[in-house]
Amino acid sequence: MRKPIIAGNWKMFKTVPEALAFAAEVKGKAEVDGVDSVICAPFTNLPALVEALKGTQVKVGAQNLHFEDNGAFTGEISGLMLKELGVEYVIIGHSERRAYFAETDEIVNKKVLAAFKHGLTPIVCVGEKLEEREAGQTKDVCRVQTLGAFEGVSAEQAVQVVVAYEPIWAIGTGKSSTADDANEVIGYIREQLAGKYGAAVADAIRIQYGGSVKPGNIREYMQQSHIDGALVGGASLEPASYIQLVEGA
Ligand code: PEP
Repeated sequence: MRKPIIAGNWKMFKTVPEALAFAAEVKGKAEVDGVDSVICAPFTNLPALVEALKGTQVKVGAQNLHFEDNGAFTGEISGLMLKELGVEYVIIGHSERRAYFAETDEIVNKKVLAAFKHGLTPIVCVGEKLEEREAGQTKDVCRVQTLGAFEGVSAEQAVQVVVAYEPIWAIGTGKSSTADDANEVIGYIREQLAGKYGAAVADAIRIQYGGSVKPGNIREYMQQSHIDGALVGGASLEPASYIQLVEGA
């Protein structure tokens, strides 16, 4: 049985006082046995959030890392630095990073390997653009991105990866993929992982859906056979909504 996982992606939102107010609200509430709960916050919030959520079931994640441990990479943060803070998860290859910061499949792969080097759990995002969907390329895009991200990843590591299938046209648009469509693509991603690692490993890998998930639709996704949780942007910013998402999983 795969344990469901809800991850909030705050993107570039919340100051430290706002993050601490959120943590105070969700403590003891966004904590449901049998569900993993993770808040992926801006770098500036991470030390305060790790401290505020210590001892709770709400874990803290970053939204990016550099693949080197240190060096002349102005403005970047490494896995080594995140681990030192007590961060446990890191989002890798979000479509906004692929689109605005030119992250390729190769860079995403290097970041996945760097996350493992430092004991961080990667949440690897894959998904197609609207024009790719309309051209019937959804599965091809997801196959290439998924297998690219898992290059050089051992079976022992693979079972720890969380994949987030996020059709780009559904992110922040209010247009979510139907649960059936998302399940079909996620089932296809799982098949690709089975081709690489075998069915037992593929069946253990958690794959989330992401794209305009909210308290009102989380249950539809969770009822699907291949969907193991959600990566949530907008609806993770309000404590009440985040708590309902974790409860809904
Ligand atoms: C995301 O940021 O990964 C996301 C899915 O955003 P939203 O839930 O706002 O669509």
